[in-house]
Amino acid sequence: MLEVKDLVVNYGAIQAIKKVNFTINTGEIVTLIGANGAGKSTILKTISGIMRPVSGQVIYLDQPIQTKAVPKIVRAGISQVPEGRHIFPGLSVQENLQMGAFLRKDHQNINQTYADVYQYFPVLKQRRHQDAATLSGGEQQMLAMGRALMAKPKLMLLDEPSMGLAPIFINEIFDIIQAINAAGTTVLLIEQNANKALAIADRGYVLASGEVKLSGTGQELLANQAVQRAYLGG
Ligand code: ATP
Repeated sequence: MLEVKDLVVNYGAIQAIKKVNFTINTGEIVTLIGANGAGKSTILKTISGIMRPVSGQVIYLDQPIQTKAVPKIVRAGISQVPEGRHIFPGLSVQENLQMGAFLRKDHQNINQTYADVYQYFPVLKQRRHQDAATLSGGEQQMLAMGRALMAKPKLMLLDEPSMGLAPIFINEIFDIIQAINAAGTTVLLIEQNANKALAIADRGYVLASGEVKLSGTGQELLANQAVQRAYLGG
């Protein structure tokens, strides 16, 4: 579904991503793990069109997309759940969800997507008329995921969904990521919580200093001693 080829991304003189290669097959959960500053968010932002690479390609469904505008990329089926949620605090929960469907042309199907989102996140239905600012951190993460789902993505990009959440919410969020995937959405997951991410991932890539250092199935990386020492507290 997605192939990142020889990707190089800079911030001014800083080379954040140095010739990164990886693939995501349709139906997979793929995770990128790595320490702070390894380059995970930069890769996600380049796939979603927020950043432009210096060189290399992002091939999505056989088309290069690295020069396409964000709305085109969203319409093609990629939606991002950004780090820090970035919900619209002054809008209601339902209005936030509505924003996620903004670029859709199949208006007749949008009500069904609300129903799907409310099924994943019943708490959002209960609170649909409430200002998003009044939600807890975990609920705001659910809202950010719900908003991304409103675009009906084929590929969902998740940037640190467990960050800052209580353990009970973390488990719930990871369960829902698996349910969303089981319902047919391919997932690229970026996480500091490497244990949990690898446990649900089909495959993973370990990034350090803007390079892929290791790759394997989720289980292989969980069992890898170097990965355990560096990222899993082993
Ligand atoms: P984190 O988990 O802390 O977000 P990350 O793996 O997602 O880390 P990136 O945010 O992609 O890493 O950062 C990769 C590199 O690019 C780091 O060295 C970082 O300092 C640098 N960087 C990120 N954003 C900027 C920016 N706006 N300007 C300059 N350098 C940046």
